Amino acid sequence: MLVRTPRHRLIAFVLPLVAATVVTSCATNPATGKKELSLMSEGQEIAVGQEMDAQVRREMGVYNDPGLQRYVETVGMRLARASERPNLPWHFTVIDEPAVNAFALPGGYIYVTRGILPFLNDEAQLAGVLGHEIGHVSARHSAQQYTKATTAGVGLTLLGIFVPETRPLQEAAEQALGVLFLKYGRDDELQADTLGVKYAARGGWDPHGVAGMLTTLERLDEASGSRRGVPNWLSTHPAPADRVQKVQAAIQEAERTEVGTSGAAERTDRTGFERHVDGIVYGDSPSDGIVRGSQFLHPDLRLALSFPQGWEIQNSAAQVVAKAPERDDYMLLQLVQSPSGSVEQIARGTMGDAGFRQLNGEPTRINGMDAYVGTYQGTLQGLGNVVVMAAHVVHERNVYMFAGIAPPNDFSGVQRQFTSSIGSFRGLSREEAAGIHPNRVDLYTVRGGDTWPSIAERTGGGVKPSTLAIMNNHAPSQPPRPGERIKIVVAG
Ligand SMILES: [Zn+2]
Repeated sequence: MLVRTPRHRLIAFVLPLVAATVVTSCATNPATGKKELSLMSEGQEIAVGQEMDAQVRREMGVYNDPGLQRYVETVGMRLARASERPNLPWHFTVIDEPAVNAFALPGGYIYVTRGILPFLNDEAQLAGVLGHEIGHVSARHSAQQYTKATTAGVGLTLLGIFVPETRPLQEAAEQALGVLFLKYGRDDELQADTLGVKYAARGGWDPHGVAGMLTTLERLDEASGSRRGVPNWLSTHPAPADRVQKVQAAIQEAERTEVGTSGAAERTDRTGFERHVDGIVYGDSPSDGIVRGSQFLHPDLRLALSFPQGWEIQNSAAQVVAKAPERDDYMLLQLVQSPSGSVEQIARGTMGDAGFRQLNGEPTRINGMDAYVGTYQGTLQGLGNVVVMAAHVVHERNVYMFAGIAPPNDFSGVQRQFTSSIGSFRGLSREEAAGIHPNRVDLYTVRGGDTWPSIAERTGGGVKPSTLAIMNNHAPSQPPRPGERIKIVVAG
């Protein structure tokens, strides 16, 4: 997302100060009933959650669909009331992120991304995701993880100006968000699954929703293979292969104890769920910039540029990065923080501050914009020695750095591609910007002869056939059934 208007800055989550004053005490874990060392009081948990929630909302953005927000909150509140901590000030928010994710902060702040919703099949699966995250809070996993992260200093060093300490594709996004996407251990995950099942059953939903959503998320993770860098639900929730199977025992238990005793119907409510997901933005949204083929377009910031053909592009929170296939050559677009002085001073200053030595450079103009293009040498963690060709470009009120990064041996081979991409940086006209629309989810009834590839192609190629299958509760090898109502993605 790089440059999310109006939040034009690199994401930099800073741990609230309250963490420095945590007091150790022994308390009873509300979800397990066991005595354990507790590093945070409930009041502290809530204070931490509140403070970090403000940052989540500011940096990631809340998805603008009040009806959908109310719906998720209603489902969430019913689950939370069925938990062991019904009186926490629970909050449920759909954030404006394309990644498939859900997470919890201490004190009862639960988030799902808009990106996870199209992959859920019905309300029972939504209840499964929310119930799982509620489980992390009610069993105090999030508070414990937070305390660990704080004492270990994780997340305290955050993004500097120039992909500091990064392997650009793998870690940049996760580092920036590392504090939020706390990683839980296997036991915590299994426990959260079990608690999710229990809350869903108590709330009147079919507890199989938990297994269903785990299956979908595992298929998705398998299909995404090596695509790293965007933190998704399974990278933040390390998944033992037997998780779907393990949760079956909890489901049977819940069906015996919860469903039986409450006498509640086991709702799935697919139709109600679909109505809320119909029309939701899929993938990048214009306010975050959109990747189309090898192009990156940002209608709000009114800029466009092309990466080299065939490079894999990742539009993440702090930057847009493209990687050459099978080589350690990268291109990177970032916003320069609080620039001052001439573009030449800004370029030399920021590169120097990042520890880079200048080899050459000169002021120039790129498609009518003031710029400074220079070559620099230095080191990046994870890549070692690199040569960087960086263009600092002034566009409207911002200064951007658009850079090619390569190991010294590769540089001369890739230099021409860097130059050509840098030369593609241009402003967008008002009309061009207004014509850029996001892809959206739509509902469709499968006809005879339809296949996942034919449906994907007919709807504009906004989504891969295998993703379409997974989105509709199918393995990619299972064809859609005629008459089946499915979610599709229509091009903007
Ligand atoms: Zn989890």
